[in-house]
Amino acid sequence: MNNKLILFGFIFGVFFVIGYLILGSYEMVQDNKQQSTSEQSPSPVMQTGLASDTSCDGQAIPSLTEGPYYTPNSPEKTNFQEEGIPGEKVTLTGYVFDTDCTPIANAWLDFWQADGSGEYDNSGYKLRGHQYTDSEGRYTLQTVIPGEYPGRTPHIHFKIKASEGSPVITSQLFLQGAAQNQSDPIFSESLVINIKEGEGGKESSYNIVVSR
Ligand code: FE
Repeated sequence: MNNKLILFGFIFGVFFVIGYLILGSYEMVQDNKQQSTSEQSPSPVMQTGLASDTSCDGQAIPSLTEGPYYTPNSPEKTNFQEEGIPGEKVTLTGYVFDTDCTPIANAWLDFWQADGSGEYDNSGYKLRGHQYTDSEGRYTLQTVIPGEYPGRTPHIHFKIKASEGSPVITSQLFLQGAAQNQSDPIFSESLVINIKEGEGGKESSYNIVVSR
């Protein structure tokens, strides 16, 4: 009787230990799985509002006319999307590169443009603002898609100065596929932005190449 009890106890104990070991190793596998998936998954998207396309052809952008609507001394701002401004919102991002395709940090950029109805703010600073590229040479502009106005295809004006002592270059960006592009004598194929539907709304990127 005693022997049977001891045997029973022994067998029970063996099964208990085996069960414990199997469960333990299963949990370890699960833990490892979780760890490896969290290690492997890359950050889902680039930080929003920062340029990710680093393409550069080393060709300095052409200078284009300033036009009649430039207002100097614009405020420093990267977000033009104020309440009540007509036009579809778009985020424009990009790098500023020199002609060796080295990013230029702290480059000065001054943007100005018409709203979605083709109107400029000529008394204030709506849709006007300057900024500096970050330490990686990137800029971000939250704005609206400019409308056309008589005689011009839609465009975004900008001035850029690579660094102290560099010349100020004045130019314009154009919209891919705009109907008036070909009939506008100022239009330049090398300054076209392609606006696409992104995760956070419409977006486009354009890398600006300038001489230092
Ligand atoms: Fe203009």
